[in-house]
Amino acid sequence: MSTFLTEKYKKLKPYTPGEQPKERKYVKLNTNESPFPPSENAVKRAREEAEKLMLYSDPECREAGELLAKTLGVDFSNVILTNGSDEVLNFAFMAYCDENTPAVFADITYGFYKVFADVNNLPYREIPLTENFEIDVNDYVNVKGTVFIANPNAPTGIALPTAEIEKILLSDPSRIVVVDEAYVDFGAQSCIPLINKYKNLIVTGTFSKSRSMAGARLGFGVASAELIDDLTRIRYSTNPYNVNRMSAAAGVGALMDKEYFEDNCKKIIENRSFTESELSALGFEFTSSCANFVFAKHRAISGEKLYLSLKERGVLVRHFTAPRIADYNRITIGKREDMETLVAEISGILGGK
Ligand code: PMP
Repeated sequence: MSTFLTEKYKKLKPYTPGEQPKERKYVKLNTNESPFPPSENAVKRAREEAEKLMLYSDPECREAGELLAKTLGVDFSNVILTNGSDEVLNFAFMAYCDENTPAVFADITYGFYKVFADVNNLPYREIPLTENFEIDVNDYVNVKGTVFIANPNAPTGIALPTAEIEKILLSDPSRIVVVDEAYVDFGAQSCIPLINKYKNLIVTGTFSKSRSMAGARLGFGVASAELIDDLTRIRYSTNPYNVNRMSAAAGVGALMDKEYFEDNCKKIIENRSFTESELSALGFEFTSSCANFVFAKHRAISGEKLYLSLKERGVLVRHFTAPRIADYNRITIGKREDMETLVAEISGILGGK
């Protein structure tokens, strides 16, 4: 850190992204990426678009936005495209939180929420999950502030039914509720059909997981036209060309390939069931995941030891050090052969081989 950095950023604790090691080839189950390549159509469109890189991208992101809106069953005025869903989440922190309106989120959830609050100098309040790592919506109905809920939650994978989220939305219509649906396509219910009913709802989504485009950085927000207007104000005040040409084109290609998308989601869900039954047979306990990962612990080995032993054997999973979850590892669901390797290596570790 230089001495030039302003005071307000000196104390900042940045988000720690999952490891992306280059020194060795791992079975990579640590960053919730898709194990499948992006749709061929997405790659083709991105390649063609590369020819036009001398031109700025369309700040409206019209082609991708219109197709996204159609796919989600909403109007173009109800969507905003962003540089990953991280960006639209950051916009929501900037737009809807201030010194009198803290951000409110679970104590165990996506680690970036805290960083978005800090980098924007915003107060936040963490609400503890229940003992079973669930969100009790009653804890949210009377709190003041802008609510952020990852649904399914990370790193637990536990999803709330939309009817539960509606209780929070209804309890105070003057309060914004942001539902982060990064993992919704792997088996949870989406709140997108509710955006016309609740003017205080923002849903965020991403092409990073279920559409295999983490490296393209393409995310989106869905809400009433008025809220999208607010977020667009922030976008035009930070970076109007936030979505690059190739990513927008790849997004169009990916959206056109519905069958490939559905097929990949189905495979992940099947591989998740396979992983759960194998881990269960090995004595693991885990939360009920609706995401492309499982969150598992074993009474005979600490979370850290398992993570380190797996790493030594060429399998990367994600270990968090926060006290409530230090016994656990978050394991991304990969291809069937990846999950078989994981199970074999864990058996070896537990069996002392
Ligand atoms: N929300 C949650 C809960 C996540 O886990 C992630 C991925 N790290 C994101 C949002 C952001 O994903 P992206 O910016 O790639 O869309």
